[in-house]
Amino acid sequence: MRDIEIINTIKEMQRYSDLARRDGKTVAFVPTMGFLHEGHLSLMKKGRELADILVVSIFVNPAQFGPNEDLASYPKNIERDLELLIQEGVDIAFIPDGKEIYPKGFQTYAELKNLPNHLCGLSRPVFFRGVATVVAKLFNIVKPHFAVFGQKDFQQLLIIKQMVKDLNLDIEIIGAPIVREKDGLAMSSRNSYLSPEQRIHALFLYKALKKAGEILKNGVRDSSKIIEEATALIKSCSDTSIDYIKICDPETLEDIKMIEKPALMAIAVKVGATRLIDNMILNP
Ligand code: AMP
Repeated sequence: MRDIEIINTIKEMQRYSDLARRDGKTVAFVPTMGFLHEGHLSLMKKGRELADILVVSIFVNPAQFGPNEDLASYPKNIERDLELLIQEGVDIAFIPDGKEIYPKGFQTYAELKNLPNHLCGLSRPVFFRGVATVVAKLFNIVKPHFAVFGQKDFQQLLIIKQMVKDLNLDIEIIGAPIVREKDGLAMSSRNSYLSPEQRIHALFLYKALKKAGEILKNGVRDSSKIIEEATALIKSCSDTSIDYIKICDPETLEDIKMIEKPALMAIAVKVGATRLIDNMILNP
């Protein structure tokens, strides 16, 4: 088992990566907000395969939370996270301080023009600006060759890929498949907020996606019909409110009316006060 090193300062992290690069080593990076689960660990396994050195960051990024969101209550368990990082053979846990990432006078943000104007960007107006900004900063701090992101946050993955392309960042972005619980619920740190009854209702996101796949298989290609069925299924749970159910182009996120090629079906639903997302590629 490798020894893990915990780094808390930006300077120290940059110096570590500079030295690793100077020694001809490759660096893979997995950014997280902690409260780790199997989904995160799958990204680490991928990162471990890709490079000599694996860096995982744990940072709950205030810039991506809206004023009425769960920044203050976001789940935390740093001791357990560190145990899991050791178990996954992670070399560096980068755990920066919020004040160092956003010092007084901070004023530069990374903002994309089109991709955030869909799906989660509509109900979370500062979210992708916050994500793109912190990821750009972390890239400049960790200086990785590879960075691994989950397809669970499909729009986020697209946005990071676009930012890397637009800003000529010399980093390869790798997308990793969604890891689910045995019954199909997409793993998420926020699942810990759910009561046992809400946990049952949360599964309806996956049920709706699976049903959509079945309807498509039966020859229905009209997105509105598929969305109607998925909506009815989720509305059958009392404790849910739908933010969106969309079938869209997996590159531009523009709505698709008829499914003639692989399309992204993306869902965001509040179960009680907990906002959950899930998605699936529908293949005609
Ligand atoms: P978070 O800690 O929620 O910000 O997530 C950190 C990374 O883990 C992001 O790239 C997410 O897309 C990814 N991730 C979260 N949940 C899952 C999951 N169930 N399967 C795969 N990747 C995930």
